[in-house]
Amino acid sequence: MSGIWWPLAFRLALLAGFAVAAWMVDGIVVALSLVAGTLLLMVLHHARHLARLSKWLADPRPEALPSGSGIWEDVFAAFYHMLRRQRRSESKLTATLHDFQRAGMAMPDGLVILDGSNRIEWCNPKSEQHFGLDAKRDFGQLVTHLARQPEFAEALGGSYTEPLTLRAHGGDLVLSVLIVPYEENRKLIISRDVTDRERVETMRRDFVANVSHELRTPLTVIGGFLETIADMETPNAELICRSVPLMSDQAKRMQTLVEDLLTLSRLESEGNPAREEPVNVPDIARGLYHDALALSSARHKVMLLLESPAWVNGAEDELRSAFGNLVSNAIRYTPAGGEVRLSWKAGADGGAVFSVRDTGIGIEAQHLPRLTERFYRVDRGRSRETGGTGLGLAIVKHVVNRHDAKLEVTSEPGRGSCFSVVFPASRVDEKRSTVQAARSA
Ligand code: ADP
Repeated sequence: MSGIWWPLAFRLALLAGFAVAAWMVDGIVVALSLVAGTLLLMVLHHARHLARLSKWLADPRPEALPSGSGIWEDVFAAFYHMLRRQRRSESKLTATLHDFQRAGMAMPDGLVILDGSNRIEWCNPKSEQHFGLDAKRDFGQLVTHLARQPEFAEALGGSYTEPLTLRAHGGDLVLSVLIVPYEENRKLIISRDVTDRERVETMRRDFVANVSHELRTPLTVIGGFLETIADMETPNAELICRSVPLMSDQAKRMQTLVEDLLTLSRLESEGNPAREEPVNVPDIARGLYHDALALSSARHKVMLLLESPAWVNGAEDELRSAFGNLVSNAIRYTPAGGEVRLSWKAGADGGAVFSVRDTGIGIEAQHLPRLTERFYRVDRGRSRETGGTGLGLAIVKHVVNRHDAKLEVTSEPGRGSCFSVVFPASRVDEKRSTVQAARSA
């Protein structure tokens, strides 16, 4: 028997005892009146408490709990404890929910929670960026109204286990989107920004395609000659004599390409910035001037202007290779009779500038931003004819970046170009520059 029955049974037993005593002393009428009167009082007592309870249940706040007497005291106390327990577990649940929300907000990926009819229930700030959502404004909106790509709508309809690639913000943002169903028809949308990964992947694909293309032509030429010679019953000395220099040219072309590729890969695999050793740039410029004379074979007027004794701190082999590419380009893209001028002078704010200016074919403005991309050529035919690989300026750009320098290009079609490598003062080796200046004075 639970707690309220004992007192009730006790009171009824007490009442029965008094009734029996009254019967024996005063007769049955008095006894029955006593029982009826007491029962009526008990009913009134319980009705009053029931009325209070029913009023309180309409707004069950623990602090507004009515006070009771008799067994109602225990009943109200039990209610009070039950409510306190409920409140405690409610606030625990709320705290856990807030924790989950905070974790969702901190996620580096986008997260959207959809209800059973694909309406937005919650989304984190990253998903607001990805899909252009607003957590408050778009609450309860159909997600298909906001992300309208047909593949997305299709993926929402089916069970997709593979991530979907979507383009957002006019194609500037590439997202990998995973739709995860849970519970009855509810879904999580997890989005990740994969723009950089996609760009690298495209670059890798283009690079492999370009290298294969560049190697295919010389290999076809060499293969063709070798096949013809192999098919001859009696060796044709004239054909062999004619084909050997052509094959050798193609082999050299492949060799240059492989060397440039290796240089690029070395530059990429070495950490940034470039190692720092004192580099005698005036000496390098003098060496390159002689190389330019040899490359030109007297077809151009080549000049050297050494206006600064400055050395720079950097990697000598890298700088020689970058400057050499600029010089070789100037000779290759300047028709006979033109001028090529190499110069090394002081730059602004204590820096120094290596420039190669030519009076060659020049470059139209729209090509300038893309010149340092691998295999980018303004005139493919001319580049090939003069032994270009399309990698020279990509190498220059890498070296320049590794030396905290800037590559500046000015050009006018038909009038010539000027390529300058601008070193900051932090790269100029002041001690050696002064010694050198004292010597030349
Ligand atoms: P390439 O081996 O084809 O010369 P580069 O990377 O060195 O490759 O140069 C990229 C392109 O930039 C060249 O194909 C050429 O069209 C253009 N270019 C580079 N230097 C010059 C220059 N001095 N004058 C005109 N065009 C140039």
